[in-house]
Amino acid sequence: MVNQFSKKYDIVVIGGGHAGVEAAWTGAKLGLSTALVTLIPETIAQMSCNPAIGGVGKGQIVREIDALGGLMGLAADASGIQFRMLNRSKGAAVWGPRCQSDRHAYAEWVQKQLAGLENLTIIAGEAKEIISEKGRVTAVLVHAKDQPDLIELKTNSAIVTTGTFLNGIMHVGDKTFAGGRFDEPASVGLSSSLQKLGIELGRLKTGTCPRLATETIDYDKCRRQDGDEPPIAFSFMTPSLELEQTPCWLTATNPKVHEIILSNFHRAPMYTGQIQSTGPRYCPSIETKVERFSDKDSHQIFIEPEGLATNWVYCNGITTSMPPDVQDEMIHNIVGLENAKILRYGYAIEYDFAQPTQLQATLETKKVSHLFLAGQINGTTGYEEAAAQGLMAALNAAAGISESEPIVLRRDQAYIGVMIDDLVTKGVTEPYRMFTSRAEHRLSLRADNADRRLSAIGRNAGLVDDQRWKKFSQKQDTLNRLLELLKTNRSDSKSLWELLQRPEMSLEKISSKSRPELAKELSSLASGNPQAVETLEIDARYAGYLEKQLKVLKQVQELDSKTIPDWLEYHSISHLRHEAREKLTQIQPRSLGQALRISGITPADITVLAVHIAKGMSK
Ligand code: FAD
Repeated sequence: MVNQFSKKYDIVVIGGGHAGVEAAWTGAKLGLSTALVTLIPETIAQMSCNPAIGGVGKGQIVREIDALGGLMGLAADASGIQFRMLNRSKGAAVWGPRCQSDRHAYAEWVQKQLAGLENLTIIAGEAKEIISEKGRVTAVLVHAKDQPDLIELKTNSAIVTTGTFLNGIMHVGDKTFAGGRFDEPASVGLSSSLQKLGIELGRLKTGTCPRLATETIDYDKCRRQDGDEPPIAFSFMTPSLELEQTPCWLTATNPKVHEIILSNFHRAPMYTGQIQSTGPRYCPSIETKVERFSDKDSHQIFIEPEGLATNWVYCNGITTSMPPDVQDEMIHNIVGLENAKILRYGYAIEYDFAQPTQLQATLETKKVSHLFLAGQINGTTGYEEAAAQGLMAALNAAAGISESEPIVLRRDQAYIGVMIDDLVTKGVTEPYRMFTSRAEHRLSLRADNADRRLSAIGRNAGLVDDQRWKKFSQKQDTLNRLLELLKTNRSDSKSLWELLQRPEMSLEKISSKSRPELAKELSSLASGNPQAVETLEIDARYAGYLEKQLKVLKQVQELDSKTIPDWLEYHSISHLRHEAREKLTQIQPRSLGQALRISGITPADITVLAVHIAKGMSK
């Protein structure tokens, strides 16, 4: 009899974090038999660090995941307890949707969605080894719960999404202990299996802050921060947000707290040499902030609830791995937290990661075919970055199985494209997180238009269902009709579209000044589809810039479309500099455009390559 252990899967996903969840969802939704092997199924989709989704750069990624048919945006909407559009005071291109989530509701909602998937089998256990034959994945060996022997799960492809768990070591003061996350075991064994397959591993570090009991905080001394009213959902599909909205609170460190930290530096694992690996530069520990910004006598702290039915709160801004007594002293010297009870001390964690230059742009490893890596294992940090990679890895695992074209998003198409291109082209020296500044085409990579950029790709891949496609098509129809009306109607000498490009203009204002018949149609279109109006108005604001960007884009696309043939051997190109030969051999770029983005590769190297390719082609 075929049971969950004896059947052959199309995809085995290892790990039920944010990358694993999207990978499993995608695989199963595409109709592929998918197994999700994870250490503790009850922790699927758990937020290891702060209970929040999105932010600047990251929020755009969530919208992109949503537009492709992924889960994260819907999960955030189902569990969000405070929504804010960050960067509102800046241009719309860099607005970042963010929500505070109910940590338990988030995981519960995701687990429910996965449980309802016909093609998905969830297996509690630890993946120990990946088996390959002739350079291709054939099976995953799993130490399944309640099974005495290792189980061999036969599969066509595997996606490894092990997060911070591979050989994880946690640090609190001088205490170190093995673990993948607080109260959860580390994953041991899979690292050496990956190494045996030729994947090189390194170490990175991240950390988290103390959690406090809400009833012990004096909120009267903190500054209240409410969410947006009305809150704006992540998903293009969410009609309204259901959960009660709650405030966050602000307080700050002070010179006394900094003095406590500085006088205990000799006990800080970050500075005693106990922690060797690099952590996220843009999300530093409070120890690092105090040392690096010694001129600042205060750092902001956001007190964020972890949910509606829990007394746990998260202290955003004071990530630390100081010993518990120092953490107690620090906390008790912060305004509003004088009597706060720490429910869990902050800690740091070091873990194995694989340098992502070992991957193709599909996230498939160069060494073993049909083996994909996604999420924190690729040197990224953040739920959103992880989820996006999980989704892309599964789309490409599916493409590999059906031998169809791989799905690689371009840099001008999506933040996801920017991230993956950065990872596989440049590699990482510290945990990689998304920023809008990483995207050269950020005027067009906006949160509001992610559906226009990506829904057709999700639809072609089979992930965007009829309902989503219908909603998207309606928005597009409205946008097109509005644009047509604005371009073909004039006021004085200008078209209404030109008028809308003025900073103080809005569709509503234009509508109010238009002749009755036109005003009626504009208003009716606008009220039927506010999402379309938002995109139209932002498009109008950026129209001039977007035109200029289009010209640059064409040049870039030209280089990106010049693929590098497989027969090219960099070492045999005598005119190429030694460093260029080494780097190109290591990265194996797929196009001249990607080659130019490799650090250390110059335009002159690209010219040499182009000439060499042209000569080779003409032979
Ligand atoms: P994870 O969410 O780590 O999930 C990995 C999953 O794999 C788990 O379910 C685990 O059980 C499973 N697993 C591992 N090994 C095996 C195996 N061999 N077999 C089966 N299952 C396995 N992000 C930020 O953006 N900002 C921060 O400040 C931040 N701080 C963090 C602090 C800490 C202490 C930690 C632990 C994480 C922090 N993160 C932070 C990172 C964030 O949690 C991750 O980026 C994100 O969760 C990565 O998602 P993932 O799916 O790659 O892995």
